[in-house]
Amino acid sequence: MPIPLLDLKRQYEPIREEVERKLAEVAASQYFILGPEVESFEKEAASWLGVEHAVGVASGTDALLVALMALDIGPGDEVVLPTFTFFATAGVVARLGATPVFVDIEPADFNIDPSVIADRLTDRTKAVIPVHLFGQSADVAAILEAAGEVPVIEDCAQSWGSDFAGRYTGGHGVMGAFSFFPSKNLGGFGDGGLVTTRDAELAATLKQLRVHGQSGAYLHPRVGGNFRLDALQAAVLRVKLPHVQRWIQGRRANAMRYVDRFTQAGLDKVLGLPAALPGRGHTFNQLVIRAPRRDELRQHLVERGIGCAVYYPLPLHLQPCFAALGHREGDFPVAEAASREVIALPVFPELTEDEIGQVVGAIAEFYGR
Ligand SMILES: *Cc1c(COP(=O)(O)O)cnc(C)c1O
Repeated sequence: MPIPLLDLKRQYEPIREEVERKLAEVAASQYFILGPEVESFEKEAASWLGVEHAVGVASGTDALLVALMALDIGPGDEVVLPTFTFFATAGVVARLGATPVFVDIEPADFNIDPSVIADRLTDRTKAVIPVHLFGQSADVAAILEAAGEVPVIEDCAQSWGSDFAGRYTGGHGVMGAFSFFPSKNLGGFGDGGLVTTRDAELAATLKQLRVHGQSGAYLHPRVGGNFRLDALQAAVLRVKLPHVQRWIQGRRANAMRYVDRFTQAGLDKVLGLPAALPGRGHTFNQLVIRAPRRDELRQHLVERGIGCAVYYPLPLHLQPCFAALGHREGDFPVAEAASREVIALPVFPELTEDEIGQVVGAIAEFYGR
């Protein structure tokens, strides 16, 4: 039997009735834009995450975009972010006419290297965006210290439920941006996102920005856009929210099973396994290992019906659309090495022990163990 990288049907089956009932309720109400489902979800999400305010938006990308817009970031401004992340983290900066200022990552956890942030700050730096990549919290304390007065916006797209020093990601910086893309820890039935903040004024600005910057009826103090979270998505997310802690525990248990089995097979000496760093919670939105001869291993797994993926094969400083920034290969060697070595394996909560055994077996076979 093939083993998919992600099988959302297994998550859906046990909650199907609950979700369908909820969707039918929304359909009966014909209330689709903002309204009670979105407001309830925002309250429940804020309470779950331990933040004062949560503002539902149309995607994780829009969450990052409105967060930058709320800080009035635009042409001439600079935003510091890691080069090893999903495209959106930098794309939103460029879309506003600001300049993404890339920095390298730490080899142990693939997250932004706090020790190089200070060097990249100028009087034009308007934000720092750390990404809690693959679900592992970045070193928030060191990042906040390095950023100083510069606002930190956390990219929490992959880190719903990950904590740093006892507080969830999204509650450390001035804002946190979450995604409900179906593959994330908490996934909707399509696109969705959320911005968290402890600042009431920022929350009001975010709510204004998501409805074209409108304050009253057809009065626009600022230019926003249509960045709203759908009521149907909010309804699905409300049903899923009480289950997400259990799903995260499932991901963690699976990650530990991989580490145990890799170690038993002696593969801990061949592969780079996820590092358990003190205080840095990991929810394993992705289980990413470093593998020698990565592309051949990937082919080997694909031939055996085992789902896997490379996040991310090209760091952002080398993307053609950012060529004008003048970066070249060798500028960020840690990120470039990661791009050559990483591979993500199935780790979704419903994955069975037997399936994990098969994945590890196939990898052991490839390395002749
Ligand atoms: C998924 C993701 C996003 C974007 O979220 P969408 O909901 O797909 O727009 C942003 N940053 C990171 C790190 C992501 O993984």
